[in-house]
Amino acid sequence: MKNFDPKYNDIPKTHLHVHLEGAIRTATIVGIAKEHGLDLPTYDVEELNPYVKVYEQWESLDEVLEAFRIAQMSIASSQVLERIAWEFFEDSARQNIKLLEVRFSPDWAFSGHDLDWDLALHGILSAKKKAEAQFGMAIGLIAITSRSMGVESCEKTVDWAIKHKDVIYGIDLADSEIQHPISEFVRPVLRAKDAGLGITIHSGEDTPASAVFDTIQAVGPERIGHGIHIIEDMSVVELVIERGITLEVNPWSNYLTNAVPTIESHPLKKLFDLGVRVTINSDDPQILETNLNNEYRIAHEILGMTLDEIKTCNRYAVEASFLPDAQKAAVIQELKI
Ligand SMILES: [Zn+2]
Repeated sequence: MKNFDPKYNDIPKTHLHVHLEGAIRTATIVGIAKEHGLDLPTYDVEELNPYVKVYEQWESLDEVLEAFRIAQMSIASSQVLERIAWEFFEDSARQNIKLLEVRFSPDWAFSGHDLDWDLALHGILSAKKKAEAQFGMAIGLIAITSRSMGVESCEKTVDWAIKHKDVIYGIDLADSEIQHPISEFVRPVLRAKDAGLGITIHSGEDTPASAVFDTIQAVGPERIGHGIHIIEDMSVVELVIERGITLEVNPWSNYLTNAVPTIESHPLKKLFDLGVRVTINSDDPQILETNLNNEYRIAHEILGMTLDEIKTCNRYAVEASFLPDAQKAAVIQELKI
């Protein structure tokens, strides 16, 4: 549920794990469809919401595929992408987010309308420049490979990210880890790492602790997306702590996707108490009808983290950010963490 309670809104925040494709306002989806003559089930925002948002814990992945299909179809030009990114930065500024890393999968997101990747990036960068100036927000970009698109797509994404490493600071693997384990992508991921890009990998979301272990052994990422199932194997918890790996945790997303059976049983606080460097994130804020304020509310009111502990998570996030050190130092000063 969207939350703008001042109690949470006033806390300066960091946001490391959020997908641009999952952060498009419904009214914008409707506006783009009208401008570009795109098919939608309905052109009424309220009526469209059930098609593009997930409100309840889902029974199967099919329930969310339509939402992502519509998101992909909405990315109709680089100008549209600029609008989507700008509105997302606006929504982030409204929640007092000071450091933001946003990720997208070029081979997936730009393929709905066969966009030129460099032109599409230009659209995002225009929005970023304006938002950094207007909102005083530090913004970084991460390029994702959708695992189901295969290793060639990963090679292509890594080549492109390396070419643009002055503005793209990291790479990620997302999508089904069960069907496409890390072993398929070791070569391109290590190539990105050798080129100096930050590495974060979705792992241990709907997979056991052993998947996170395999990911760490194979590519040694600085960060893991989700990773919550390490709680089932203390040897992997210890490995994550020992390597100083940061987890990008998304509590409400984990509940909706059945990665945890109930929100009350989410292991965020347990992992924090054990000494894991956890951070709090929202994953797909529009599709999952959440925002970072709501995730903070869950961490504080449902999972029992104190506001000081949440502040520590913000420090972990800045320390693990892929942004340049000078920008990180400025955020640490501003957030007094
Ligand atoms: Zn994610």
